[in-house]
Amino acid sequence: APVPEEATFYHKDLVITQATPSQMKPKPAADAPLKFGHQYADHMAEIEWTLEGGWERPRIAPLHNLSLHPGAKVLHYAIELFEGMKAYRGVDNKIRLFRPDMNMERMRRTAHRACLPTFDAEELIKVISDLVKLDQEWVPHSTTSSLYIRPTFIGTDETLGVGYSKAGLLYVLTGPAGKYYETGFQPVSLLADSEFVRAFPGGVGGYKMGCNYAPTILIGKMAGEMGCQQVLWLYDDDEKLTEVGTMNIFVYWINEQGERELVTPPLEEGLILPGVTRQSLLDLAREWNEFKVSERFITMGEVRKAIKEGRMMEMFGAGTACIVSPVGNIVYKNRIKGVYEDLHIPTMENSPNLMQRYYETITDIQVS
Ligand code: PMP
Repeated sequence: APVPEEATFYHKDLVITQATPSQMKPKPAADAPLKFGHQYADHMAEIEWTLEGGWERPRIAPLHNLSLHPGAKVLHYAIELFEGMKAYRGVDNKIRLFRPDMNMERMRRTAHRACLPTFDAEELIKVISDLVKLDQEWVPHSTTSSLYIRPTFIGTDETLGVGYSKAGLLYVLTGPAGKYYETGFQPVSLLADSEFVRAFPGGVGGYKMGCNYAPTILIGKMAGEMGCQQVLWLYDDDEKLTEVGTMNIFVYWINEQGERELVTPPLEEGLILPGVTRQSLLDLAREWNEFKVSERFITMGEVRKAIKEGRMMEMFGAGTACIVSPVGNIVYKNRIKGVYEDLHIPTMENSPNLMQRYYETITDIQVS
């Protein structure tokens, strides 16, 4: 459904309060090992909204704690959504955002679904650009690291009771993100157990809401205890592959018709988060026009058959964090059918390697 045009805030009203020297933290070295999400830049952006007063002026201020009423709706009913995007320092030392318009569109769609107000995407991109400019020394001087950007939107209405929030706060955090592949590509093992579901038709799996993530943490922990790094999220009795961890999934194989085909699940049912990386990989493959490209579901049955018949070439996750993440193994469990299998996926053995080509192509776009 189209997101209605609503009132917005304006970048021209932005008020910047610079951090004092004593508030500023030392910047990480170019090659520092950076643990994702453990360091924040010196400033944040924030914009308040109320039903009565509309959007306030955007502000950029030193990073600070929030003051929230303990009854705030975000803390009870998870009226929260976020985005994840990155700023890259190019080989020309210029700083660029990667397709921020796509993140802003997803954020607007999600805000509408969360009964929070929308805004003009361009205005938020301009505010984010100023924030990144102010904290430009936090964008690592390296083509393999980046500045992660986390726009967030919460319902701050102080009243209990399940209902839409009459107040909100949109804020933006940033922090340096290090090189994802310190020691080259590491294929991941996935736990595939259809007893657990990430999203379902009519739900909000296609939106970037915090409420989608809390229920996945226990399953991720269980996967870890079984020696797996990620969960392969399956859906329905036919065990459709939907997503992997917090990434979209791609399968590159010879299909039953004997054609080379790249497949990723479709967005229509609302089970899949419309990833910016997902769209970029699809766009590239269609531009290359070297193999069939399909947006459709693949089932575990088809995957097992393809492996048996030697048709499986590659499987990889796709997302902002790593661009692509090779799958090496699936621990497949079906309690009802009494199946427990360890499936090898030859992603790293396949040559020429599509996953690797994607990594190099996207990295090149981001830094040049
Ligand atoms: N699926 C889920 C569930 C995610 O959280 C993400 C990360 N935003 C993705 C896929 C990948 O999306 P993107 O390429 O926009 O990072």
